Amino acid sequence: MRKLCGLLALAALAVATGALAQTYPTKPIYLYIPFAAGGPTDTLGRNLAQVMGKPLKVQIIVENVVGAGGTIAVARAAKAAPDGYTVLLHHIGMSTAPALYRTLTFDPLKDFEYIGEVADVPMTMIARGNFPAANFNEFLAYIKANKDKVTYANAGLGAASHLCGLLFMTAIQTDFTTVPYKGTGPAMNDLLGGQVDFMCDQTTNTTGQILGGKVKVFGVTSKKRVPSLPNVPTLDEQGIKGFDVVVWHGLYVPKGTPKPVVGRLNAALLDAIKDADFKANLARLGAEPVSADRARPEALHKLLQSEIAKWGPIIKKAGQYAD
Ligand code: ASP
Repeated sequence: MRKLCGLLALAALAVATGALAQTYPTKPIYLYIPFAAGGPTDTLGRNLAQVMGKPLKVQIIVENVVGAGGTIAVARAAKAAPDGYTVLLHHIGMSTAPALYRTLTFDPLKDFEYIGEVADVPMTMIARGNFPAANFNEFLAYIKANKDKVTYANAGLGAASHLCGLLFMTAIQTDFTTVPYKGTGPAMNDLLGGQVDFMCDQTTNTTGQILGGKVKVFGVTSKKRVPSLPNVPTLDEQGIKGFDVVVWHGLYVPKGTPKPVVGRLNAALLDAIKDADFKANLARLGAEPVSADRARPEALHKLLQSEIAKWGPIIKKAGQYAD
C-alpha cells in the first residue's frame, strides 16, 4: 500500500512537472542581481532580461538583492521556490566566496541547477579625474608612497572589484584601505565626486566614464587589450606580469527546478547570446557574450568547479590582504 502511494505521488509529480514545462512561464520571472542598480551586473542583467524575455514571452523583472559582496542574493536564490520564476545572475564571485567567507549558507556546487554561462567582462583600473598621476608608473608610485591615505572602492568581499584589488595588492605588495559599497554603481558616483581615489571595475560600468574623460584609466586587467579601449594597455604589459582577470557570468536557478524548465531558460539564453543588439550593446561596453558551447548547464557547472579550485589557494595565499 505504501509503495502504491509512493508510486502515485511520483506519477502526480511527473504529471505536474510535465504540465509546468509545457506552460512555463505563465507569469513574470524575477532575475536576482547581487549588486546595486546602475552597476555592471545590473547593466548586463537588464540587457539580458530584455532579450531573454522575448522567446519566453513574459517580462523578466530585475531585482537588485544587494549586500555582503553578492552573497545575500545567492543565499536568497538558493532558498527560493524551484519553479523557474527566480533566476540568479552572478559572476566570478560565485567561485571566490567559498574561500573568502568562513561560513556560507549555500553551497555553489550543490544548491543550484545551472542554466549556462552568459558573458565575459574585462576590468579596468581607474582613478578619480584629478588623481595625481599621468601614467601607470606614477600611479603605482603614488599608491606605494601614500598607502596609508589612498582609498580603494569595491563592492564588498566577494565582488569582482574586491578580487581585482586583492590581486593588485598582492602583486604590488602594498596594503591600501578599501571602502566597500553595495555595488560599483554607487562606488562610481563617489569616484566621480572625488570621495574615493581609485577602483578596479568592469568595463560595462567604466567605458563611458573613461571615454568621456571623467576618470583616469591606468590599465585593463585582461591578458589582451579590450577592443573598445584599444589605447589602454594591459596591466601585464605595464609590468604586472601574469595579471589576468576577466569576469565571467552565469545564470542559476534553485536546486530541484524541473529539467524542462531549465531547458526553456537555456534555450532563451542561447537565443540571447546570438542576438545582434545584445552583442552590439555588450561590445560597446567592452564585453562579449559567450559562445554557444559555454552557454550550457554542464559548461557552467564545470567552470564553477575549476574556478573554485583555482581561486581558493590564490585567495588563501593573499590572506593578509583579504578583507
Ligand atoms: N559587479 C558588481 C556590481 O555590479 C561589482 C563587483 O563585482 O565588483 O556592482
